[in-house]
Amino acid sequence: ATQPEYRGRFAPSPTGPLHVGSLLTAVASYLDARSASGTWLLRIEDIDPPREVPGAADSILRSLEAHGLYWDETELYQSTRLEAYAEALDELTECGDVFRCCCTRATLGPGGSCLKRCSPTLEDVTALRVCLLGNAGFDDRILGPQQPKHGANDLVLRRKDNLYAYALAVVVDDAWQSITDVVRGEDLLFQTFAQLELLAQLKAEQPSYAHVPVVCDASGIKLSKQAGATAIDDKAALKNLRKVLELLCQDSAQLHAGSTRELLELATSLWNPQALQARRALVYP
Ligand code: GLU
Repeated sequence: ATQPEYRGRFAPSPTGPLHVGSLLTAVASYLDARSASGTWLLRIEDIDPPREVPGAADSILRSLEAHGLYWDETELYQSTRLEAYAEALDELTECGDVFRCCCTRATLGPGGSCLKRCSPTLEDVTALRVCLLGNAGFDDRILGPQQPKHGANDLVLRRKDNLYAYALAVVVDDAWQSITDVVRGEDLLFQTFAQLELLAQLKAEQPSYAHVPVVCDASGIKLSKQAGATAIDDKAALKNLRKVLELLCQDSAQLHAGSTRELLELATSLWNPQALQARRALVYP
């Protein structure tokens, strides 16, 4: 059988402007897609309004463009996909082990399992969870074989406040957009096990995964939009890209390129994700 055409994506949540860590993830997924002559998509994961920062989505789009990271097709906003998430939830309810859960973090049993499951059809203000077996391993393209550590667990699919959970939305859209290759931060590594099980329950193809190390500050704390990491300066795009390529342990030959376009072209031709294999965290500044 022929390999399906490479389709990758960058999927930021609009919880703040891009910082060095999220730019690094964007660059890694971009280079991986371009070096495979693939398609690179942008998906704004705006399904959690309480966490959103007004203007963040636009600022992310502008920053990507300022850095020459042009995406293919029209960007997808997850807020336009609520019907698809509802349908997927119905499908999982029919075939899977979905139940209502009234637990708080304090009343959940060992391993995060709900002890008093209620019927999913019960109309009530509770979260909907699905029981996962915690038995889906995968072979990460950078980190090698990965096995889940925690066994069976109950994953929230729709929160008590009626918002869809990240894990549900991400698998529905990875499947719908025919994503073949996910390149993202290692902070999401543990989420992959659950996502693989959900994809299997939805009878969707499983993409391949490559997790890149997260960028931490000097005290070892992961840079995050929510924790207010410093926004990148769009006017220093070339300098930012050079820094990110250096953090990604890429060949320093490319650092001499004189424009963002030239730099990204060179970086694409020299892209070597395996250089990250021995790295667990990247430190900035
Ligand atoms: N939206 C998620 C985030 O910003 C990333 C989702 C993914 O790449 O799977 O952390």
